Amino acid sequence: MQRIAIFFIAACGFAAAPTTDIKVDQAGYLPGGPKVALVVSEALAKEFTVRRTGNDSVAFHAKLPPPVQDADSGDLVQTADFSKLAKPGRYYLEVAGVGRSWDFAIGPDVYARVFYLAMRSYYGQRCGTAVDLGPEFPGYKHAACHLEGAYHPSSGKTGPHVSAKGWHDAGDYGRYIVNSGISTGTLLWTWELFGARIRQVKLNIPESGNGTPDILNEIRWNLDWILSMQDEDGGVWHKQTSERFCRFILPEKDTTISYVIGTGHEPYKSSCATGDFAAVMAIAARAYRPFDEAYGQKCLRAALQAWSWIEKYPDVQFHNPAGVGTGDYGDSDCGDEHLWASAELWRTTGDEAFERYFLTHFGDYRKSIRPVGPPSWPNVAPLALWTYALGHGKNAEAVAAITEDSLSAAGQIVERSARHPYRISLTSTDYIWGSNGVAGNYGVELLVANALRPDSRFVETALDNLHYLLGRNTFSLSWVTQVGANPLHHPHHRPSAGLGLPEPWPGLMAGGPNRTRQDPAMRKLPNLPPAKMYLDEQASYATNEVAINWNAPLVFVLAGGMGVK
Ligand SMILES: [Zn+2]
Repeated sequence: MQRIAIFFIAACGFAAAPTTDIKVDQAGYLPGGPKVALVVSEALAKEFTVRRTGNDSVAFHAKLPPPVQDADSGDLVQTADFSKLAKPGRYYLEVAGVGRSWDFAIGPDVYARVFYLAMRSYYGQRCGTAVDLGPEFPGYKHAACHLEGAYHPSSGKTGPHVSAKGWHDAGDYGRYIVNSGISTGTLLWTWELFGARIRQVKLNIPESGNGTPDILNEIRWNLDWILSMQDEDGGVWHKQTSERFCRFILPEKDTTISYVIGTGHEPYKSSCATGDFAAVMAIAARAYRPFDEAYGQKCLRAALQAWSWIEKYPDVQFHNPAGVGTGDYGDSDCGDEHLWASAELWRTTGDEAFERYFLTHFGDYRKSIRPVGPPSWPNVAPLALWTYALGHGKNAEAVAAITEDSLSAAGQIVERSARHPYRISLTSTDYIWGSNGVAGNYGVELLVANALRPDSRFVETALDNLHYLLGRNTFSLSWVTQVGANPLHHPHHRPSAGLGLPEPWPGLMAGGPNRTRQDPAMRKLPNLPPAKMYLDEQASYATNEVAINWNAPLVFVLAGGMGVK
């Protein structure tokens, strides 16, 4: 009886397991936009069919063009374009001789759930408090952690220091100002650019319903920690971590002391951290004033103090002091952080002194808005330039130059992505540690260009990068945990390992392919093209760690996609 039933299902075709040879965005596609799946198979099929999930009726049928070789993966790629299919629903692709794809949706709200999970993942990363994802994700919880803080000898002070709030940076439990800087800045920009779309999104966090939009509630948890890292003289210590990474345990089981770590010599604080701090606090002052005037003012005062410090100490670099082995986030040039602080402070206060600093220095950084190499934690100059243009700076010539640079770079990214067999913006050299974050930040670059001068191609290419992250890649893998039918399962993430549940914590994006073998687990990989250098293994921190600075551009691009028809 069972055998007959299986035969019946197989004959109808709809119960066959999906194949990784057909690559779709497993979250889905917007009704009015381009819709493309990719087929990689030696079968070299001639046509494809889109069927409705449930009754398997044909919704769309078309020919497949000849394959194109993708140098970065080695794949022979055929493009299945079903853009004309606009009716909301659930579908799958079928290709004779190849198989069927995972299910996907077409609808105006296909990114709402991913946005919710990706933004709510920051709640799971909260330090200093108990976290529980509730009945939606039973068992995903941890107790209050890292409550014991102290000054490390490298900080210039001694004794206890608060260890309060903040987000665990990545797969480890450290908190780092520089990486928090671009992450928190990108999320605050998400609010500033797309607030109308996301202000009603309830993240189901303890603060939900307090009258402030939940994205700002969640960001504030990290801002409060960032504020606690400022010294009385205005300077900001680089990081707060244990001296060494702990084992793969839940955060509350890590009982090491959380040290405020400095440079080890006068003035102990570092310029890049202080510049990032000033920029982020200046944005926060704008964002929170309408909801909590006093908090906005507090952020602004902190930003101004940090500015005074970096004016005095523009070039104090950070390197791990003796005895400290956690992340370095070292940066040999803090000029871009200084510039970002000036631009955000100008945008918030309108003070001519900040504008003068910006206009004196921005020309040195115009090349940072480029077609290859979007913003990243060591390179925040594009954010400085963009905030001046987005804030309608008074110097029309500067605004015009920044706008033209941005449109030119975005135009080149669009053309390159359109030619790419996987329709992504990544170049061969972009497959670095955190390449998925690079793909996300190309999306940010494109959506900012669109904000400066609307162009549907910019938005479509940003979403092409999103499609790659959510399954339209050589592995047919969704690189966001618990999103899509075929997501990664084994991120380098201590809270996931500590729980030992079948699936990791939801909404976290993995770093992705890395052309360089930067961890021991990668040694087993044969010589592969760059896009294939990836392992869904906990041990592979250089391809499968998660990080707050990679989730931030994901959140930004998802919010950008949520408003498109
Ligand atoms: Zn913690």
